[in-house]
Amino acid sequence: MKYLQDITTIKGVGEKTAALFRRMGIHTVEDLINYYPRDYQSFGPPVKLSDTKPDQLVTVELGIASSFKWKKVRNMSIGSGVGSDGTDQAAITYFNMPYLKNRLTAGSRYLFRGKVRYEKGRYHMDQPKLYTFDEYHQKLGQLWPCYSLTRGLTNNAVMKAAANALKDYECEEYLPEDILREYELMSLAKAKYQIHFPKDFDTLVEARRRLVFDEFFLFLISVRKMKEYNEEQDTGYPMIETAWPGRLIEALPYKLTRAQLKVWKEIQSDLVSGKCMNRLIQGDVGSGKTILAFLALLLTVSNSYQGAMMAPTEILAAQHFEQLSEMTRKYSLPFRPVLLTGSLSAAAKRELYEKIESGQANVIIGTHALIQEKVHYQKLGLVITDEQHRFGVRQREILNEKGGLSHVLVMSATPIPRTLAIILYGDLHLSVVDELPADRLPVKNCVVGTSYRKKAYEFIINQVHAGRQVYIICPMVEAGDEGTEGLENVIDYGEKLKNILPSEICVEILHGKMKAPEKKRIMDAFAAGNIHVLVSTTVIEVGINVPNATVMMIENAERFGLAQLHQLRGRIGRGKEQSYCIFLDGSGKEQSAKRLSILNQSNDGFFIAEEDLKLRGPGDLFGIRQSGVMEFKIADIYQDAGLLKQVSMTVDKLLMEDAEIKHPTHAALRQYLEENTGNFVDFRSI
Ligand code: ADP
Ligand code: MG
Repeated sequence: MKYLQDITTIKGVGEKTAALFRRMGIHTVEDLINYYPRDYQSFGPPVKLSDTKPDQLVTVELGIASSFKWKKVRNMSIGSGVGSDGTDQAAITYFNMPYLKNRLTAGSRYLFRGKVRYEKGRYHMDQPKLYTFDEYHQKLGQLWPCYSLTRGLTNNAVMKAAANALKDYECEEYLPEDILREYELMSLAKAKYQIHFPKDFDTLVEARRRLVFDEFFLFLISVRKMKEYNEEQDTGYPMIETAWPGRLIEALPYKLTRAQLKVWKEIQSDLVSGKCMNRLIQGDVGSGKTILAFLALLLTVSNSYQGAMMAPTEILAAQHFEQLSEMTRKYSLPFRPVLLTGSLSAAAKRELYEKIESGQANVIIGTHALIQEKVHYQKLGLVITDEQHRFGVRQREILNEKGGLSHVLVMSATPIPRTLAIILYGDLHLSVVDELPADRLPVKNCVVGTSYRKKAYEFIINQVHAGRQVYIICPMVEAGDEGTEGLENVIDYGEKLKNILPSEICVEILHGKMKAPEKKRIMDAFAAGNIHVLVSTTVIEVGINVPNATVMMIENAERFGLAQLHQLRGRIGRGKEQSYCIFLDGSGKEQSAKRLSILNQSNDGFFIAEEDLKLRGPGDLFGIRQSGVMEFKIADIYQDAGLLKQVSMTVDKLLMEDAEIKHPTHAALRQYLEENTGNFVDFRSI
């Protein structure tokens, strides 16, 4: 099968480019074809400096009067110069782009794309993207894909490779005729091509609809199969009530909320029912789900079984481990916990595997390293997944299989309306923690333009001097991705901020491309209060709990979905002090300000998610990403809620007519499912 071949078989992809692709998890031709653009750009005709508005992404044609001057400040190289459009001049600044030195010389002319700011009687452009006249004119009037990149890989290189791969890509249709017809779906081959190189906007929307359909389709077939498998299964780990959970509830420094108690009762009665528990706990950020997981683990170990708790990031796993260990010491609980993550040394892992297999460890907390083949449990009675939406359905399946007849508890902070939750988690029973602890002060919010930034820094300095800590969120890790001109990135921002804030304030950065031990070091230092301001990507959005952090400032808030912003905001407002969230809107658009103002109106995740949808148009399909809401590649459960319901009905109908997918007209579908879904044990053995 051609598409499973190594990426080096693609024309123009040499070993060097291939290594960069591999770094992003792209190994085969198919991986590359499934590496969909993150966004699309259209290029308008260049404008005059005097016609630009603040925060608008524009292109201006500028001639350079005298060569750029380059200097080193700390470990940054800064280049500055002046460009003229014939009438006005703009001061242009580049950070860490020394390779532009040879291009930015006196007398040269380029098109500069980015945001123009007017300050102190002068136009400014920071870090604009540079095009020659020819380059720019080729781009005019079309939609261009923008891919997520890694250092050393250009957008052009990905585009070329994708174009070459698509040229000989043989992509067979697998959806049955009647489904294609009923939903007027584009063929798979066409959709894969058009999602990379759309002919026009309408075709792009149709291509996307087809791919979203597929994503939901595969997902829901898996969910249905898991449901079938789970239904009324007798557990291999029957439990009885013990005194331990009640004792812990009594000992805690706070009283559980009514909602927490209600959900705990539901969990407990599942665990002692003799049947396998399959339960989802939904609860807004900060509603106190972790303690419910710990109570379930406590009942499990006091019944002499093991319990495992899986988190999507090492940071979160470590945090759970530390909390549980502290509780164990403080209240003399019968836990013998271990922390198992991917970054441990092989020797350390081997040692843990032994402890797990012998039963010496009775609580195993970790990342998806928990479900790797080498881990054998002695008697795994309970499996908990935190921030479930961060894991794909494949991991859900593996865990389901690994657990065998274990009890399964999954937790999610994503506010998903009940009608959708029933579809997406059709294999699970649903509990909702619909109340926040009473002692919380609601977060104070403000939505402001970038001109407010200076004031925000003053506020931040005051808060740090008062002993508080601060998160600043940027949408990008580093500069350079196509179409991200004018978006803040963690690396440059961190450097800039170190120069702006007084030196006694400790600023550090955190992002997903850092190595695990480094991330842990930073997070530990932040939790210990040694870092005052943490500049980070959304890696901090899941689960982190540092109650002393009371300020969050989100740069380019317009680039995030509201559900995700709400999730991010959940990192503050966790302690006794008043917390503040500052949403900086870098778009300068009224519509965006209106959308963000919803966050001002409410702290209720469900309300926010629904209002967000009402305000979005088809043009917002791309660009604003609700990543972190549910790990679909291209689908957005809010935006595509209608389609999700349709696919759900289609899957029901299909499985009703042909439960085992054996009908001859479904041969291609069956093969596709075997290749693309997880443990279809019951399909394959038929
Ligand atoms: P989430 O539901 O977002 O996972 P956590 O479980 O991390 O929330 O809880 C957030 C914070 O609230 C933690 O510091 C936790 O100790 C605290 N907490 C949990 N339940 C209560 C309660 N009933 N009253 C007061 N504080 C609580
Ligand atoms: Mg949590």
